[in-house]
Amino acid sequence: MIRPFVLAAAILLGCLSGSISAGELKCEDRSVVIHGTEPQDVLDGCEAVKSAARFFVPLGLSIPEGVSIELMEAQHASLLAAHETGNYDAQKNAIRILTYRAAVKATEANEQGLGRIATRTHWRSYIVHELAHTAIHAGCGVACPSRAIHEYFAAVAQLASLPTEELGELLIPYRNLEPFQHLTEITEIYYAINPHYFAVKSYKHYQQQSDPGAFVRRVLAPSD
Ligand SMILES: [Zn+2]
Repeated sequence: MIRPFVLAAAILLGCLSGSISAGELKCEDRSVVIHGTEPQDVLDGCEAVKSAARFFVPLGLSIPEGVSIELMEAQHASLLAAHETGNYDAQKNAIRILTYRAAVKATEANEQGLGRIATRTHWRSYIVHELAHTAIHAGCGVACPSRAIHEYFAAVAQLASLPTEELGELLIPYRNLEPFQHLTEITEIYYAINPHYFAVKSYKHYQQQSDPGAFVRRVLAPSD
């Protein structure tokens, strides 16, 4: 039972060592600041940042300066819609995400698979997903890729962040789902119809790429 105390102390230390108030943590070596009241959630948030950065760097992407992650106890009409686990507000450079406990509760009735959150690593992958949106947004300048490509890359980053064994189990319900065959199949309509199928088909498609870095640079090039 030492662990909760250690975690609380870590947060408090953050408070004493900088301009960080209780419930906030600036992740080590990153400019991301996480706001939340559950210490384990905040620390897991920083783990998600590390994991996302590891995935982005070889692809030439990075998390922009000044991103904040707001851990929310509940969905809120103007910030996080009823169907959303998380989102990214590009104007405010802010990610909002349900706390782990709230996310588990909000998704417990969902079908088994990507939409039912039951572990912290699974929850953390949703933060990686939103961080992918920040990285693409920061890197795309005047003209950005389509929303479908945004979601493709966010899904790939999210699934790639999961431990291999857990990912294998999560993908069991989708074992018969084929990868996207061509970029023209990766559409916002498909995403809207079934975001989890979209995510799995994207991930399987990405796995087939012989040079993922070159592929990402190509698909993230401005669409117009
Ligand atoms: Zn997304």
